[in-house]
Amino acid sequence: MNDPKPVRTIAVADLRYRGALPHIPDLLSTPSGQLSDRLHRPLRDLRISVTDRCNFRCSYCMPREVFDKDYAFLPQSSLLSFEEITRLARLFVAHGVEKLRLTGGEPLLRKNIEILIGMLAELRTPQGRELDITLTTNGSLLAKKAQSLKDAGLRRVTVSLDGLDDAVFRRMNDVDYPVADVLRGIEAAEKVGLAPLKVNMVVKRGTNDQEIVPMARHFRGSGAVLRFIEYMDVGASNGWRMDEVLPSAQVIRRIAEHFPLQALEASAAGETAERWRYVDGAGEIGVISSVTQAFCGDCNRARLSTEGQLFLCLFASQGQDLRGLLRGAYSDEQISAAIAHIWQARSDRYSQLRSAQGAELPAGQRRVEMSYIGG
Ligand code: SF4
Repeated sequence: MNDPKPVRTIAVADLRYRGALPHIPDLLSTPSGQLSDRLHRPLRDLRISVTDRCNFRCSYCMPREVFDKDYAFLPQSSLLSFEEITRLARLFVAHGVEKLRLTGGEPLLRKNIEILIGMLAELRTPQGRELDITLTTNGSLLAKKAQSLKDAGLRRVTVSLDGLDDAVFRRMNDVDYPVADVLRGIEAAEKVGLAPLKVNMVVKRGTNDQEIVPMARHFRGSGAVLRFIEYMDVGASNGWRMDEVLPSAQVIRRIAEHFPLQALEASAAGETAERWRYVDGAGEIGVISSVTQAFCGDCNRARLSTEGQLFLCLFASQGQDLRGLLRGAYSDEQISAAIAHIWQARSDRYSQLRSAQGAELPAGQRRVEMSYIGG
C-alpha cells in the first residue's frame, strides 16, 4: 500500500513576520498631527490590509506556485477586528493621517467590509475634516458591491486591471476571470459616484506590454485615470527580473506615438504617480515608476498588515506588532506614543537604494509579501 503523500504546510504569515512588540516611550505626549520621520516626511497615508486572501493569483503578487491549495492563510482570530482597525486608525489620524486606503489580498473578500468603512467614515482629522477613504480592488466583486460601499462612506476606488485581452489578463492573474466582469465593476463604481476612479495596470515586459496602447485607447475620455505601474521586486516569491521591467519612459513614448501627451504637476505631496494629460483633452494618465524613478523622497505612507503589524515601506522585511499592544491592554496614549516613536525613527527608502545598490537583501532577510500588507 502506498505511503500517504506527506502534507506540505507553509508557515502561516505571522510566524514568518513575527514583529517585535514596539517600545513604549516613558514620555506620553499629546499627538501634534505633525509627525515627521528622519527624512522629514510627514505621516499622511495609512494603508490597511483587511485580508491576506485573494481570488486572483497575479504572478507579480501572489504566484500560484507559492499561494497554492496548501497555503495556510491567516486564521480569522489573528486578523484585526473592525473595532481594532478603527481604534488604530483613530490614533494614526491624530498623528496627521488624512487618507486611509483599504487593501488586501482582495479587500472585498472581507465579510461585511461596509461596516468597517462606516466606522472609519465617522473619524475626523484634528481639524474636523472628513478622511479620504479609498480602496484598491481587483474589481471582481465590485459590480455587486459598488452601491453598498458608496452608502457606507467609501469615497473612491482604484481597480487593478492588467489588460483587455482575456488571454493576456489570464497570463497576468492566473485565474479564468473575464475582463468584461471587471469592466462591469468599473462601470458600476462610476455609476454610483465612486470617483475619481483610478485603474492600475502592472506592466510586465514580454507578458502584457502589448496591452498598453489598447488600455489607453479604452479609457481615454472615460473620466477614469489609467496608471501604468513598473513591475516591482516586491516580496520574495514573484521571481522578479529587471529585464521584465518596462521603464515608464518607454510606456509614455508608446502612448505619445498615438495620443500626444503633456506632463502635469503632482497634485499632492507624496503622490506615487507621475501625471500626464492628453493634449486633446481626453483625460489623464499616470506612471508609477518605483524601479526607474524612485519616489521615496516624499513617501508619507505607513502600512498595517491584516493582523496589525506596522510596516514602514512596501519593501520592508520587518514589522512592529501593534496588535500585541491592542490585545495587551495598553492605553491609547501608550499605543499612540509607540506609533510616534516608530515613525520618527523611520528612514526607509528602498527604491532609492535599489537604484544605487541593487536589489539584494542582507542574508536571512526577506521582503514582506505585497499580498500581506497591500500594494
Ligand atoms: S520604496 Fe518604500 S520608502 Fe520608497 S516610496 Fe516605496 S514604500 Fe516609500
